[in-house]
Amino acid sequence: MITGEQKPIDEIRDMISRYKDVLVLGCGTCVAECAAGGEKETAALASALRMANKMEGRDITIKERTLDRQCVKEFIIQLDDVIGQFDSILSLACGAGVQSVAEMFPEIPVIPGLNTTFLGETRDQGIWVENCRGCGDCVLYYFGGVCPITRCLKQIMNGPCGGSKEGRCEVNLEVPCAWQLIIERLERFDAIDRLEEVYPPKDWSKKQGQGPRKIIREDQQK
Ligand code: SF4
Ligand code: SF4
Repeated sequence: MITGEQKPIDEIRDMISRYKDVLVLGCGTCVAECAAGGEKETAALASALRMANKMEGRDITIKERTLDRQCVKEFIIQLDDVIGQFDSILSLACGAGVQSVAEMFPEIPVIPGLNTTFLGETRDQGIWVENCRGCGDCVLYYFGGVCPITRCLKQIMNGPCGGSKEGRCEVNLEVPCAWQLIIERLERFDAIDRLEEVYPPKDWSKKQGQGPRKIIREDQQK
């Protein structure tokens, strides 16, 4: 999933300060899972903004709504009937959601309320960890299911750097050494021979340098 964190409230208040009718728009998918922009967080932020405005005597109407997904047209059109009531949207979706809503409603400013952070997993309650950089050419098979690009701090593709200490990365001892994990897992699966190959440097052209990436699936088109 895509993770994000809510921006500081002062930054949010500053960005919406010139508007009078603000829709705080949550997203019920990834950012709900990471407790940053789901229904609950949207209600809490809208209420905090209303309270702050009241205390300062500012005349701004704040309403709230949460879509199941802000990055899918079919859900965004649910705003068609209400969009005319607002002069701005404060979106608590990831950057993709913010831009999707802005594209659907080009006449209204859409302001980001979150800092989109990374692709990751919910490791435990209240703990989210990055484990994929969306490189466009997944090599997890060769590395026992541990991504050296995301989890090795030097992004080494051909064996450990030799600096790990008791299974921790020498760059940051809080992080387990990805290569220690790779080797342990490949040994467990009797697949250590996969490391006999020399892996070329990552081809980043699959991730960047050619503009926004696109996936087109004709079998999914109506
Ligand atoms: S190899 Fe690429 S696609 Fe696979 S987990 Fe790592 S960054 Fe993500
Ligand atoms: S200690 Fe391990 S994770 Fe850290 S840079 Fe070296 S090989 Fe990568």
